[in-house]
Amino acid sequence: MIISRSGSIRFPGLVVLKRTTDTERAEKSISGNNQYSDGLAPCFVTCLRIVAAKHFAATNARKKLRVLRASVVNISRSAYATDTAESELMENLKREAFFTSPVPFESARIQAAAVYCSDGRFGRQFDDLLQHGLQLPRYDRLAVPGGAACLASHFTAYREEEGVAEQLRFLISAHQLRRVVLIAHEGCAFYTQRLRVSPLQLESQQREDLQKAVRRVRSLSSDLDVVAFFARKTWEGLVQFELVE
Ligand SMILES: [Zn+2]
Repeated sequence: MIISRSGSIRFPGLVVLKRTTDTERAEKSISGNNQYSDGLAPCFVTCLRIVAAKHFAATNARKKLRVLRASVVNISRSAYATDTAESELMENLKREAFFTSPVPFESARIQAAAVYCSDGRFGRQFDDLLQHGLQLPRYDRLAVPGGAACLASHFTAYREEEGVAEQLRFLISAHQLRRVVLIAHEGCAFYTQRLRVSPLQLESQQREDLQKAVRRVRSLSSDLDVVAFFARKTWEGLVQFELVE
C-alpha cells in the first residue's frame, strides 16, 4: 500500500483511491475488490480505516501517517507469517498416515547406548538383552556391520572406527550417556568377509576385539560404564549372551 503526497492511497496495480473525506466509501472500494475480499482483507481494511480516518481528518498529519504506514506494513507482515504457519499446519493435517504405531512415545532418555552388528537376524534378541536382560528400554542404537569390531584398531576398518568413535562422542555429549553395551555375534560376516578372519579363529578374534573396544570406548569418557557380550546361537534355535571380561 502506498500513500502519496497528494493523499491518494494506492495498492499497486489493483486499486487507486482518490483523496476524499469519505472513509466509508474508501473501505467499500477496498472490500469490494476480489483480491482483498479474503485472506488478508480484514487486516488491510482495518488498517485502512485507521489510516484514512487519521489522514482525512487533518491536513498536516503526514508524520502520523508515516507512523501508521509503518504499522500497516508490520501488521501485514505478521498477518502473512501467521497465514503461512496456518497453511503449513493445514497441509500437515491433510497428510494421511501410512502407519501409526500403537506404542506410546516416551521422551525421557535412558542414557545408555548399544553398539552392535547390523545383522537383522539378531535384532530382536539384541533388543531383548538390552530391554529385559539389562533393563535399558529406549537405549540409543549404533548398529554397524561387525559392531564393536571397528573399535578394535583393525587397519582395514580404520574409516569405520573414525565414524563410530565420532558418533559415540556425539551421543555421549548430546544424550549424556552413562552406559555403553557392546555386542558381537557368532558367525559375523564382517569378520569373515571384510577382515578375512578364518572361521577357526573367528570367535577368539571377536572376544579379543570386544576387550579392545571396551578400552577404546572408555577412553572417550572416563565416566562411562562399558560392558561387552558375545551372542551365541544355541541348539534349541535361541540366542544366549555371554559376558566378555
Ligand atoms: Zn555381524
